[in-house]
Amino acid sequence: MNRVILIKYGELTTKKGNRKLFINTLYNNILKKLNGLEVNIFKDMSRMYIEYDNKDEELILKKIGQIFGIHAFEVAYKEESNLDSLKRAIKELLEINFDNQKKYTFKVETKRSDKSFSNTSLECNNIFGSYILKEFPNLSVNVHQYDILVNVEIRHGYSYIYLNEYKGLGGYPVGSLGKALLMLSGGIDSPVAGYLAMKRGIKLDLVYFEAIPHTSIEARNKVIELAKKLVVYGNEMKLIIVPFTKLQEEIYKNVDGNYSITIMRRMMYRIMEKLVKRFKGLAIVNGESIGQVASQTLTSMNVINNVTNVPIIRPVACFDKLEIIDISKKIATYDISILPYEDCCTIFVPKHPIINPNLEHTLEMEKRINYEDLIKEILNNLKVITISNLDDDKYKDIL
Ligand code: ATP
Ligand code: MG
Repeated sequence: MNRVILIKYGELTTKKGNRKLFINTLYNNILKKLNGLEVNIFKDMSRMYIEYDNKDEELILKKIGQIFGIHAFEVAYKEESNLDSLKRAIKELLEINFDNQKKYTFKVETKRSDKSFSNTSLECNNIFGSYILKEFPNLSVNVHQYDILVNVEIRHGYSYIYLNEYKGLGGYPVGSLGKALLMLSGGIDSPVAGYLAMKRGIKLDLVYFEAIPHTSIEARNKVIELAKKLVVYGNEMKLIIVPFTKLQEEIYKNVDGNYSITIMRRMMYRIMEKLVKRFKGLAIVNGESIGQVASQTLTSMNVINNVTNVPIIRPVACFDKLEIIDISKKIATYDISILPYEDCCTIFVPKHPIINPNLEHTLEMEKRINYEDLIKEILNNLKVITISNLDDDKYKDIL
């Protein structure tokens, strides 16, 4: 039998006007993800079909499970549309997938888009159901609660038969809703924020602020490792490394200690705004979560956000830490995030960062720093690397 992977779009088909864009983006994302494998991909407005070499099946299914914009997928058998061929295919499928000796319940669901086919969907359900009962004495019908769902889709010339389906990641295809820049620290929250933003169809480039020698190369490598976990869902992304040392030292020399984080984060946003323009993004994404630390009270966020009009998306703003941790484990960033290397924020954290900063006071203190020149210098000294599926050694050459 001829096997194909059948892909169902789900959520994206509900947005009528964008449907074509979504499907094309998904198609290109699948092509990139399966790059190097021998596949043929066909698309129509309701499905995609992937023909492939059977030896790659496991790998392809794993990769398909990592692509946003796919609601469900299944391994289907492509057969000629006639009752005998379909019966044969159903028998083989059940033999391969289920232990003959065990008792299971089943249901047959036939969809017939070829209305010229000799039998109606209901008749087909009965024909195939009776056939299964005859061939497999241990199986019984239960249309409400079944272990096995036998799907038969009858189309012009050929049909697809498949059993229970795999759940896809859902969401929108990455890139179908534009690009944003993710502020990626070494912590738990920001990789999760990035994952959730990609799920909404946002393509990401990544920005890491570092303060060498106050932060280590290990801290940077940790961010690269996190980026490599995120790129699984995003094909390819740039990692922009921002040399933050001088500006950060100026802040700590010149402003009242309890305001240093407020002002440092305002500087980060000022730089982010420039990067968004330079790298053609439309928004900033970060891992801020309301109430988690002093800079994430609403008053703080209000004063910090004041420096930019670029939309700031905070996917985990209203999540509990435990909910964030659950996702970080699922996407395999947790074990990397909890490695101990300090990032540029943790090193300079004052004993009592202000929870309710005052905007006027903040502006007064910022006058003590020649930050515009320092930001210009920073923007002239960025390091940009492309994260794809390169191995570690190649990154070392680039940096
Ligand atoms: P995380 O767990 O993601 O590090 P956090 O709870 O430690 O977050 P903060 O350190 O206050 O919170 O940072 C809030 C957000 O600001 C981070 O989630 C991240 O998006 C961004 N951020 C902080 N530090 C950096 C950095 N060094 N480089 C890039 N982005 C940063
Ligand atoms: Mg952090």
